[in-house]
Amino acid sequence: MATSLVTDPAGDADVHIALDIVAQFAFAAGEAMGDGTAQTWQIGVQNVEKFIVCITLVQKHGFAAVDGQGELTLEHIALLRGRGEVAEIVESAFTGGNHLWLCQQPRERLIIALAPVFCVVRVHACGGEQMARMRAGQCVRGCRTGHAGAGQHQPGDAHGAGVCQDRGQVAGEAVMGQVGANIDQGRMGQKNALAWQQVLYYEDPILLNPSHARSRRDVPLTIKVIMPTPYPHLFKPLDLGFTTLKNRSLMGSMHTGLEDSKKDFAKLAAYFAERAQGDAGLIVTGGIAPNRAGWVAPFAGKLSKRSEVARHELITRAVHESDGKVCMQILHSGRYGYHPMCVAPSPIKSPITPFKPRELSAAGVDKQIAAFAKCARLAQDAGYDGVEVMGSEGYLINQFIVARTNHRTDQWGGSFENRCRFPLEIVARVREAVGPDFILIYRLSMLDLVDGGNTWEEVETLAQRIADAGATLINTGIGWHEARIPTIGTMVPRAGFSWVTRRLMGKVSVPLITTNRINTPEVAEQVLADGHADMVSMARPFLADAHFMSKARDNRADRINTCIACNQACLDHAFEKKRATCLVNPRACYETELTYEPVDTVKRIAVVGAGPAGLSVAHVAALRGHKVTLFEQADAIGGQFNMAKRIPGKEEFHETLRYFQNALADTNVDLRLGVTVDRAMLAGGGFDEIVICTGVTPRTPEIEGIDHEKVLSYIDVLKNDAPVGKSVAIVGAGGIGFDVAEYLSHEPPFEPPDTDEFLREWGVDKKYREAGGLLAEGAEHHGARNLYLLQRKDAKIGKGLGKTTGWIHRMAMSGREVRMIPGVTYKRIDAAGLHIVVGDAERLLEVDNVVICAGQESLRKLADELGDDLSVHVIGGAERAAELDAKYAIREGSLLAARL
Ligand code: FAD
Ligand code: NAP
Ligand code: SF4
Repeated sequence: MATSLVTDPAGDADVHIALDIVAQFAFAAGEAMGDGTAQTWQIGVQNVEKFIVCITLVQKHGFAAVDGQGELTLEHIALLRGRGEVAEIVESAFTGGNHLWLCQQPRERLIIALAPVFCVVRVHACGGEQMARMRAGQCVRGCRTGHAGAGQHQPGDAHGAGVCQDRGQVAGEAVMGQVGANIDQGRMGQKNALAWQQVLYYEDPILLNPSHARSRRDVPLTIKVIMPTPYPHLFKPLDLGFTTLKNRSLMGSMHTGLEDSKKDFAKLAAYFAERAQGDAGLIVTGGIAPNRAGWVAPFAGKLSKRSEVARHELITRAVHESDGKVCMQILHSGRYGYHPMCVAPSPIKSPITPFKPRELSAAGVDKQIAAFAKCARLAQDAGYDGVEVMGSEGYLINQFIVARTNHRTDQWGGSFENRCRFPLEIVARVREAVGPDFILIYRLSMLDLVDGGNTWEEVETLAQRIADAGATLINTGIGWHEARIPTIGTMVPRAGFSWVTRRLMGKVSVPLITTNRINTPEVAEQVLADGHADMVSMARPFLADAHFMSKARDNRADRINTCIACNQACLDHAFEKKRATCLVNPRACYETELTYEPVDTVKRIAVVGAGPAGLSVAHVAALRGHKVTLFEQADAIGGQFNMAKRIPGKEEFHETLRYFQNALADTNVDLRLGVTVDRAMLAGGGFDEIVICTGVTPRTPEIEGIDHEKVLSYIDVLKNDAPVGKSVAIVGAGGIGFDVAEYLSHEPPFEPPDTDEFLREWGVDKKYREAGGLLAEGAEHHGARNLYLLQRKDAKIGKGLGKTTGWIHRMAMSGREVRMIPGVTYKRIDAAGLHIVVGDAERLLEVDNVVICAGQESLRKLADELGDDLSVHVIGGAERAAELDAKYAIREGSLLAARL
């Protein structure tokens, strides 16, 4: 197994051994190299505790300087506070900026660079001149790019990767076993390189016997000992010929709303830069139209004129300075355009937009193709590394490809040959416009999920031709927007559509990217290891955590803030024309506005209630440096999330709780579980600030017989496991009413559905027997109970659910034959059941149980008791029960903590 010499040192002794080994390396290396620039060594450490041991001992051994380079985050500073000498060093490195050198002793020539997030310690030996360059933030070799080893060197380059600090490359090299990339083969020669490969990759202390050591020369070599990655496939670089991607992750295109206004591009640049710093392998922007006709909505992002280039340069500069690569997505919405200027191959209105498109003339078709090519060229001029041509999801290109939306009889319609002409022309003309050394991703609809979509044979043929026409990579598109199959919702199993890309593997000449519901490094790794794709696209996971990849690389996957696929703050916002952000990460798309600065004055803060609001305020306040005590009356954190996570299809909520649990520990929040806080505890506690996050209590509606034994609250059902009969009426059809219906329509034990079960339930055919990939026999939903879902309003049931997910819940309930009844007046509950009036008709629902999901009221008794003599803040449900959700609660917590 490829491994480094010392990984995850357990304690002082291990580090002593590690440092001895380094010294031996230094001697041996002197013999191997005639000249050179630097000696690089790294120890992999898994957590900050071990890091501190390392750093302390490394310092004791006389290594000289500490460079706080990279992302020394507040999280780490908070952890290190109060730990003496090391803490001081790290803290001043942080506060002094990313490249401040400390404890520098020029006589000594070993430098310890703190790699981002402290998980890798590198030791360089280099001469005074190189050190000066490093201090100036330049590459030690003095290369012209002037970057601080930003990883722009290719494997085999004469620059030591350790000096240039291409972290992605490091991890990837371990995977590939490319010793040549780790050890400068150009200088060493193959024989020595292989010898060193053994030393480096196999734990064999014999090879490090001191007898191998020679007298040390002044001509050190670049050697790296690689920290093994648990995700070797994910961190394997991808060589595209003219450029290399540092790992196999693609941050997929997502509309944020910031693309639509010139004034927001600086914010967009900061948003992308943070993801590039977090080691996203390749970033794709949200869709940018190539002309007005292609707008998604009036005045949406567009790049068709030279005057629009400059704003994009903000993005490309920011990403490149952060060691990233970025492609711009060209999106022509065709008939999905939410404006009267929309065009399409044929004048057929889409079921999800109100505007009938204008049919393109033959000249009009040419014009659109030319617009794609021009747009790509302008993107290149703006400094993008490539473009993604959006050919899926039912947008214009897709509309040309399938007969369902293309009824033309000219050379652009009719036969498959003719329908494919449009995308093939676009790819060819784009390639012609940008030349060979520019990434061209084509997003191919591999599974349309609509009647009259493509057959698999057509998908395959098109993919091959797209590759031949000049695409560098083919990305996967699953389902048109008008399809009625969930493709990214939280109920979709993780990686539930990677099998589609798998079908195409080996059939095309370019690497394939797979997508949809890949939200952890483990899943991404598995998908790649199973040969389902060459690369994985994750879009929302990068909203939820900008540092997804760097945390994975540094063995800190358990610190990733995982996307729970709720769509509440991202897609729902995009469709509501609001700026996208993330329910679990309110900083997403607000990177320049919501900042967590270190505090000047440390305060003692009490937070009462460890639901989403309390968790977020406690974590962020502690991250900033405050001393936080978090009280929770239950024996676990999470508040209502502990019920949400039990709903079949909402298993992802466990991840948010795991994230917060670790985040609290990392930031030294004093968590007191099982403590019900009262006024006296707070008044006598000496707290500078008190934050009340006590949440909500269920509303009890005034219905005759509400105390009847067959009446249960959703808490009885979801928290206390009350037995529930076979026939149930649910009073209230909000989010919780739907969740209770979902819960009761399954039989325990609840297992997350596997992909096959999910596909069967929603009528998707893995064998692809019908064009479009739908099962001829349709969906197959099963319900475990006889359920009624009721509301008083005379409006469509579920109208208030999420914009992009409400239809899924409604369809699932209809499929399971849940009777959804609006316009209900509740009369009484008795042994016979629930008596209601609907319209003028009285009805008796003969049910075993009535479950009350009639909303909630704020639980703010404690807040009211505290009075004005203390500094009290009330947030989350305790402050506002109406329209409360976790998005609001977490955002409130973060906003308050950023100000405290
Ligand atoms: P709570 O989560 O209610 O937390 C309050 C905490 O305070 C509790 O842990 C409580 O024990 C503690 N507490 C109260 N008094 C004291 C005291 N005196 N001393 C110590 N501790 C105290 N929202 C979404 O956005 N999306 C969803 O998909 C979603 N699904 C849901 C599904 C279900 C089944 C449920 C029940 C809720 C769901 N929600 C969802 C709603 C979401 O969970 C709430 O909006 C959110 O939990 C409110 O957060 P909060 O911190 O204000 O309150
Ligand atoms: P809710 O969405 O406000 O729904 C409450 C339901 O109770 C409504 O259907 C309401 O409809 C009914 N109701 C209100 N007062 C009543 C009364 N006095 N008698 C009888 N019925 C009454 O609240 P919730 O379902 O409790 O959800 C709480 C929060 O969690 C919501 O903000 C929700 O968004 C969030 N949540 C979200 C999700 C999600 O998937 N996104 C899931 C669960 C929860 P009528 O007044 O018409 O009867
Ligand atoms: Fe994921 Fe929900 Fe955040 Fe969107 S809002 S990125 S779906 S966690």
